[in-house]
Amino acid sequence: MDRESLSLLPPGKISTQIASGKVEEDQNISTTALLSFSTDSSSSPISSKASTKTIIFVSLILTTCIALSAAVAFAFLFFSASHSSSSSSSSPQDFEVSRPLNKLKKPVVLLISSDGFRFGYQFKTNTPNIHRLINNGTEAELGLIPVFPTLTFPNHYSIVTGLYPAYHGIVNNYFTDPKTGEFFSMRSHEPKWWLGEPLWETVANHGLKAATYFWPGSEVLKGFWNCPANYCMQYDGSVPFEDRVDTILSYFDLPSDDMPVFMTLYFEDPDHQGHKVGPDDPEITEAVARIDKLIGRLVDGLEKRGVFEDVSIIMVGDHGMVGTCDKKLIFLDDLASWIEIPKEWVQSYSPLLAIRPPSGISSKDVVAKMNEGLLSDKVGNGNRLKVYLKEELPGRLHYSNSDRIPPIIGLIEEGFKVEQTKLRKQECGGAHGYDNAIFSMRTIFIAHGPQFARGRKVPSFENIQIYNLVTTILNIQGAPNNGSSSFPKTIILPSH
Ligand SMILES: [Zn+2]
Repeated sequence: MDRESLSLLPPGKISTQIASGKVEEDQNISTTALLSFSTDSSSSPISSKASTKTIIFVSLILTTCIALSAAVAFAFLFFSASHSSSSSSSSPQDFEVSRPLNKLKKPVVLLISSDGFRFGYQFKTNTPNIHRLINNGTEAELGLIPVFPTLTFPNHYSIVTGLYPAYHGIVNNYFTDPKTGEFFSMRSHEPKWWLGEPLWETVANHGLKAATYFWPGSEVLKGFWNCPANYCMQYDGSVPFEDRVDTILSYFDLPSDDMPVFMTLYFEDPDHQGHKVGPDDPEITEAVARIDKLIGRLVDGLEKRGVFEDVSIIMVGDHGMVGTCDKKLIFLDDLASWIEIPKEWVQSYSPLLAIRPPSGISSKDVVAKMNEGLLSDKVGNGNRLKVYLKEELPGRLHYSNSDRIPPIIGLIEEGFKVEQTKLRKQECGGAHGYDNAIFSMRTIFIAHGPQFARGRKVPSFENIQIYNLVTTILNIQGAPNNGSSSFPKTIILPSH
């Protein structure tokens, strides 16, 4: 981005500014200093040796001043140029605009998720296809920030609704509704669980076609989205990844009116391997290489159809991954001297500790006693867990405003796990679900297409911004959500 912004300034302009502006001003200052120096020295006895020394000294000072002034001028130009190109799309210097569609009649967004693709995995091995998208597209330079809890279902559904889990209702991969006592699992497809308006519904509500090759929530019937045959795949993890890519490609062979304008494509890897072996294992490297090949297959197929440059490809993950090991455990039974936490109270242990005590038991007292025990030095790794009433969690987590969220939430330090009791031999593996401020929980955001600048890096952002980004590209009105309405302007190119 920096190189680009500098090259936006014609060379003539740079030299003119240096000659006429800052440099001259600074030279005047140094001349004044020089004069006062000569005035002072004139009162001293003048000898020829002294005057030669003075001339050399003066020239040295002058040269230094000019060099410094030039440096200041360059710094000024550099920062003002890079600021203007990154902050606003309306700057006259920002000449890069979105590219027209060649073959497609309407903008098409393909949203790809590679589950558990931790930010940085793209450097584990040679990933020429992913890097082709990065180098010719726009990337969150330090990754995409997931929502809390950094789990698969809450995050995938935040990406397509623009809502934090407290608002879209999928507050965990599994939970109990306290009002009805009903249990939500990843197989629950009843609309009552899935709040908000996912992108496929927004698209369908506009009379346009969407297609989902797997995405949490996509099989749920909502609004005008009726999960149509051939456009909405019922989840089946055994479908080879290549088949999923080929089906997506086949949509581009349809007549324009039947072609979906929004498509999702989901891969379970490398999350699957990450849980087994942790993030730093050759198995992850192999899984990443495979994802890269699939992106290659997709790009090849799009190129053959002459639509690669027309399609807006947004490649993301849902969360990162961190290594866990048997020494990094906290057992709730170790708190028994302060308070007994029966397993019936615990909705989930790790990495999101969620506890709902029965009515009549004060959650506030439970939190106080648990924290007292955890800070006592008598509970193994107790200082790695902090327990909160959900209303007292840091506001940045946005994790309180739903009855579905149990009243007591524990934040566990990266890589640690909570269990009820010491039972079985633990093994090393990987986990996610921790505080979304933890860097290892970050994933990727890579976007390529006519409305994305080539080779541009943008600062990290939360995945709830993606909903507005997609509706802006598709030029449709989105539903209200937690994303910022001005965000898309910071990522996509202006249309003219
Ligand atoms: Zn996972």
